[in-house]
Amino acid sequence: MKKPFVPGAPFQVVWNITNACNLKCAHCYEDAGKRSSNELTNQEIIRGLEIISKASATSIAFSGGEPTSNPHITDYIKLTKELGMYPAMATNGYKLSKQSKLNKFVDAGLEFVQISIDGLNLETHDSFRGVEGSWDKAIQAVENSVDADLFVEVATTVTTHNIDEIPDIIEFIRDIGAHWFMIYNFIPTGNGTNISEMDISPKNRFELLKSAYNENMNGNMQVLSTAPQYAPVAESLQTDSSVIPTHFYNPQYKNPQLTQLAEFVGGCGAGRFYMGIEPNRDLYPCVFFPRTEELKLGNLMNDDFDQIWKENNLLVDLRNKDLLQDNCGSCESKNICGGCRARAYTYFNDVQAPDPGCIKNEGKWNELKNKLPNFQETHNGSLFINLEGK
Ligand code: SF4
Ligand code: SF4
Repeated sequence: MKKPFVPGAPFQVVWNITNACNLKCAHCYEDAGKRSSNELTNQEIIRGLEIISKASATSIAFSGGEPTSNPHITDYIKLTKELGMYPAMATNGYKLSKQSKLNKFVDAGLEFVQISIDGLNLETHDSFRGVEGSWDKAIQAVENSVDADLFVEVATTVTTHNIDEIPDIIEFIRDIGAHWFMIYNFIPTGNGTNISEMDISPKNRFELLKSAYNENMNGNMQVLSTAPQYAPVAESLQTDSSVIPTHFYNPQYKNPQLTQLAEFVGGCGAGRFYMGIEPNRDLYPCVFFPRTEELKLGNLMNDDFDQIWKENNLLVDLRNKDLLQDNCGSCESKNICGGCRARAYTYFNDVQAPDPGCIKNEGKWNELKNKLPNFQETHNGSLFINLEGK
């Protein structure tokens, strides 16, 4: 069988249902804020859900912007379930801090909720999210969601702003009773381009992933990461853990099958497990891909979704790990990792370029740094650009 595996339809469609958002997050990949004038109508979204269901996608994750800003969101969740798909939602949690509001989502059939936390306390979180009180609301939403028996994932995008807090955040979230803690890889796209200097160094990412993996031995909450390097890091640790470290799927399997299964699942899911939909109906391999014409796959309403999945040239190329360049191309871990293709494109304008976040690509990271004038690296690996005297 060809590795990694490619299903006949995306496993998860992440649908940025609206550009509207009540927060102003520094790292937002969508550069969200106001509702865009070209967003799909209610009827078009309903038709879109039917199209995705007909193509046999397994799960839809509603995201945004802030999906709870859409007045019909609970109707879409209900319809997703009626169409036989698994409904999930990624939210900043602000509105779910009200139990009565959360109950509407539970009643509609929501099964999985991801709530984002950027810090251990309101100083770190609220300053990044741009709205006072957002940390309190997010934590309340996590507690409400646990109480409501939803499958709860707490997600933290790691930058130099919060990397030192991650161990304490994990402990704090574990105590609340969340099921997953997801370490989100920072990808400098959307608003994130303005804070690209906050990207963590390959060495710090490596250490972070190692300690994250070891956290799985400390309780029931699983600690996972969207960084595809998590799989090779976990493989190298070779513990007796039963966690397969991928960001969308982690069945319980014991070693020694871990490596075989990880190769089958296969790291970066762009082109293989995901499809991203924009509020205006454009399709991308993953929501973290920059919104360029070159990366656009087509249009949900006018193009043949099934045909795009099976035949689109970009998706076909993303499935072919032999096209990867430099160290990613010759890497023994390319079938279980492959590097984040969104990060590769963001930094090098090429989807097959090496992911500069990996310890094996430290040379590429250093080349990027050297292109910046008067750079200095701070203690936690961020880049400080000294413009004095310029
Ligand atoms: S490009 Fe790949 S690794 Fe990066 S966020 Fe998307 S699916 Fe994940
Ligand atoms: S070199 Fe590329 S494929 Fe290999 S571990 Fe690093 S990011 Fe993954």
